[in-house]
Amino acid sequence: TNTNDRSVFLRRESAARGYCRRFDTVFTSARGSLMRDEAGREYIDFLAGCAALNYGHNDPAMREALLAHIGADGLAMGLDLHSTAKRAFLDTFESVILKPRGLPHRVQFTGPTGTNAVEAAMKLARKVTGRHNIIAFTNGYHGVTLGALAATGSAYNRMGLPLSGVTRVPFDGYMGSDMDSAALLARLLDDPSSGVDAPAAILLETVQGEGGLNAASPGWVQRIAALARQHGALLIVDDVQAGCGRTGSFFSFEPMGIVPDLVAMSKSLSGFGLPMALVLIHPDHDQWRPAEHNGTFRGNTHAFVTATAALQTYWREPGFEAEIARRAALTHAHLERIGREVPGSVLKGRGMMQGLDVHSGDLAGQVCSLAFARGLVIETSGAHDQVLKVLAPLNTPLPLLEQGLSILHGAVTDTLA
Ligand code: PMP
Repeated sequence: TNTNDRSVFLRRESAARGYCRRFDTVFTSARGSLMRDEAGREYIDFLAGCAALNYGHNDPAMREALLAHIGADGLAMGLDLHSTAKRAFLDTFESVILKPRGLPHRVQFTGPTGTNAVEAAMKLARKVTGRHNIIAFTNGYHGVTLGALAATGSAYNRMGLPLSGVTRVPFDGYMGSDMDSAALLARLLDDPSSGVDAPAAILLETVQGEGGLNAASPGWVQRIAALARQHGALLIVDDVQAGCGRTGSFFSFEPMGIVPDLVAMSKSLSGFGLPMALVLIHPDHDQWRPAEHNGTFRGNTHAFVTATAALQTYWREPGFEAEIARRAALTHAHLERIGREVPGSVLKGRGMMQGLDVHSGDLAGQVCSLAFARGLVIETSGAHDQVLKVLAPLNTPLPLLEQGLSILHGAVTDTLA
């Protein structure tokens, strides 16, 4: 039979394919936090499209909205033309997200990936300030095109290419607990002989997803934000992975009391897994000229439709943040128990972006493989793939979340045995 036949992928798909190598099956369908393969096996999803599926697969409200739009011959491909779908998204984003948080930002739709949004933000910061240097941080991940890649820490992704225009500084915690890298950055920026050029922007994730679930402390982020202001640099928060509720609030920086100049978002913005990305621009900095930063796919109208439904379903009424917090607490408690079995392991992350650093990529990989064999899709992150990364949909039913965490626990126990 052809069930789960993978031969064409091996024969024809470029060696660039990645995730599929660990989860070596052929998926057919998914609903909520469950995925199904061609052989009819079910998997609990702790990968959630790498945080592109914060509301799970095929959310009924979004699906209904999308099917209605398509059924009515709704505009599908819109370049950046005005459309009713885009208007509904902008109105909803303004009333549900921006206004209640007192954010005056404008919205720039970019090409449809997180990388595109980061590129646009870096480019705008350079235009606004007339400077070139961007400060980024160790273990940061911002994308794979040459500008965003320069800001990405991963040597594996950097491929030894001659990338330029970025100065990398230790992220919070990177130098150990008793040394503050914000103080180091302050010193570098104050010293004309440091070799660090005046920055156009400081670019950071408040929780580094790919870098190993490194969560910055609020105080550190505030000090970095103050440095950006003091030195005339724009503060760019990359909320591509940590945004859309992943850390507990819609924006990851909300508990930190800072207002970034620019925010890059993508992944779970459409809520349905459709490609969509944007940059939030403080009005002081909206210096783009029309069509200066183009992109054919800046307007995925289907994504606007599901994104609007996502905001109306999950963010219009209070309560979702409490739901996320309950799941985050459950995840934390479980990971603590699992961590006790792995000597020296460290709990990482924040909200529904937590994991366990087991200090060994081999061990973490074996755990993921065993977990997968037992019906759990879970990935690793970190410079050595040494962090087990729990990225379940934010609305995963509590019993299913428990079940997934139990599979993970058993996989750790049995891998170590
Ligand atoms: N920034 C962050 C923080 C990310 O996690 C990612 C993707 N993992 C990106 C940017 C790039 O997004 P994309 O893969 O959609 O280009």
